Amino acid sequence: MRQKIRKGILTFSALLFPLTFFFLSPYLIVLSATQGIVGGSAMVFFGMFILSIVTSRLYCGWLCPGGAMQDTISKSNDRRWNGKGKNLSKYIIWAVWFGFIVCLWIKNKPLTDDAMFKFEIDPQYLIVYVAVVTIIFLFTLFTGKRGMCHSFCWMAPFMIVGEKLADLLHIPRFRLKVDPGKCISCGKCAKACPMGLSIDKMVKSGKTDSTECISCLECVDACPNGAIRCGIYAKQR
Ligand code: SF4
Ligand code: SF4
Repeated sequence: MRQKIRKGILTFSALLFPLTFFFLSPYLIVLSATQGIVGGSAMVFFGMFILSIVTSRLYCGWLCPGGAMQDTISKSNDRRWNGKGKNLSKYIIWAVWFGFIVCLWIKNKPLTDDAMFKFEIDPQYLIVYVAVVTIIFLFTLFTGKRGMCHSFCWMAPFMIVGEKLADLLHIPRFRLKVDPGKCISCGKCAKACPMGLSIDKMVKSGKTDSTECISCLECVDACPNGAIRCGIYAKQR
């Protein structure tokens, strides 16, 4: 039941993407920064960072329209994306992109805010939207399960930084907890994981923290023996 609700929310989010893209766009935040404006997408990304201090990457697993599209494509290609440096590339892209935005903000001070910056469907917006959706589709089709989340999502690093900050400050956040003694090594959790994580091995080792976990809870629901649960816990010292 929980997974049906999650997939329903994701589908709804994907349908709304032509509108919500205004607030998730990697391009509009740059355009607004060139004019000394903190736009809606910058505000949303900041909100993601703050929320992730407690909610980790729940957004990615439960609400992200790009994630919803990838999960649909994974029905055609459900192999794990095992490319070299597959997780590292998104941090490099993010650091260059966000560093450039911060430089623009510094250069164009004083800043103003406009949550509805460029909130109009014009040809330029449609071109960027179609380009981003096409890249998501093709990249995932070529790579495998949530390839874009692993390799070039511009939003994930904001949340991963939030998770790291929570752990550094020992703030309890949403995470998995496991009981290795209950695991019968059936592998159902790993098969169900949309991120292609080896959660079965992680359960056995007792270490389930992964920056790539999107808190979708597929593994929790797939485990026949209740070896995985979830909740808000501080990082174990
Ligand atoms: S490890 Fe579990 S909660 Fe994390 S992404 Fe995989 S299935 Fe989802
Ligand atoms: S589904 Fe449960 S029992 Fe099976 S490998 Fe995963 S944690 Fe172990």
